[in-house]
Amino acid sequence: MLRRYSRVAAVVAAVLAGTALIKPVSGPEKVRNIIFINGDGMAAAQREAARLYYAGFDGQLIMDSLPVSGQLTTSPHDPHSPITDSAAGASAWATGQKTFNGAVSVDVDGKPLPTLGAQAKAAGKATGLVTTAQVTDATPAAFFANTSNRYAQDDIARQYLQHSKPDVILGGGEDWWLPAGTPGAYPDQPAEDPAEGSRGSQGNLISAAQTQGYRYVSTPAQLAAARSGPVLGLFGNEELFQIASEGQGDKYDPPVSLATMTGKALDLLSGSRKGFFLVVEEEGIDEFAHYNNGARMLQALGEMEKTVRLVRAYAASHPGTLVVVTGDHETGGLVVEDPGTGDESGDGVSAEDGPFPVKGSDLTFNLDWTTGGHSGSDVPVTAIGPRSERFTGKHPNTYVHQVLLDALKG
Ligand SMILES: [Zn+2]
Repeated sequence: MLRRYSRVAAVVAAVLAGTALIKPVSGPEKVRNIIFINGDGMAAAQREAARLYYAGFDGQLIMDSLPVSGQLTTSPHDPHSPITDSAAGASAWATGQKTFNGAVSVDVDGKPLPTLGAQAKAAGKATGLVTTAQVTDATPAAFFANTSNRYAQDDIARQYLQHSKPDVILGGGEDWWLPAGTPGAYPDQPAEDPAEGSRGSQGNLISAAQTQGYRYVSTPAQLAAARSGPVLGLFGNEELFQIASEGQGDKYDPPVSLATMTGKALDLLSGSRKGFFLVVEEEGIDEFAHYNNGARMLQALGEMEKTVRLVRAYAASHPGTLVVVTGDHETGGLVVEDPGTGDESGDGVSAEDGPFPVKGSDLTFNLDWTTGGHSGSDVPVTAIGPRSERFTGKHPNTYVHQVLLDALKG
């Protein structure tokens, strides 16, 4: 009562002082949906290369046009390395704690930590993950599972079914859901990569998912026909693109695009009464950057941009949607260069790529690489929607967890 009186008194005082707001006083917009998008390996140089290539000197990527921007540092708490891998990076987002490389949402002693995926479920939200990597790869895994070993992808799949139960699971990695000898929809030892083949140690997890009520889809047509969740969609043995040395079979050709999978996930999750939490990842940026393959990396960045365009349009027509776009670390030690300069980093695997055209210009740029691994460069973070303003400034990657956990509370 006192509080109410005070507020009335404050409004009266404001009117008398001539400072009353024209609009009635209302609280900040509530967060209903959270869409978190990871460009794996995407830092400032990758975004600038994509801007020049897809938008030109005076253009802007949609992912860069989100109204709030900041920077994240990415270093892990690892006894052997100052540079993060995707597992420790995603664990920082998903749990708010720094950990060692290879760890999936466990602390430095290996103890499991609460994840945002589980916290979103506990808050009554539907949850989902979409990736061009294996659905059990480090980034999605950190949001929905706990393990000291990121490579135990069959155990991560089992945890999805038995514990975190995401309502939508779309991506690659069928090999980890089936035991050896059960090829599934994607044949073992395919010509383009004979190393692929079913290798799960947890039984037939696709059957287990179906028994549990998941609709299982493995083709674009089946995905298009799925009208309600939960849905498990696996569209390849491993990643949804082909990793190989440059010119020796490297291909970015997902059978279902990241934007298509994301659009379907949004359709399926939108029915949730209390909103949803969705993690989206473009993995090709990182993996092609590991191979210092500029042309393929730019293709993956183009798909990432298309996906952000779709998500931003969704947010514009669905009030209460917080969208966050960032990367888990930089990959390749990438520099955007004048094509006229020499190749300072040598001509081995790190040879410069290019020249690539700047859209709408006669000028071109080269992409030069300094490592086949990750680097410690900061990553940009851009955001739109309620609570997005909190991403302004420079923060450790663990800060993402703080903001998203608060956002889960509305
Ligand atoms: Zn990587």
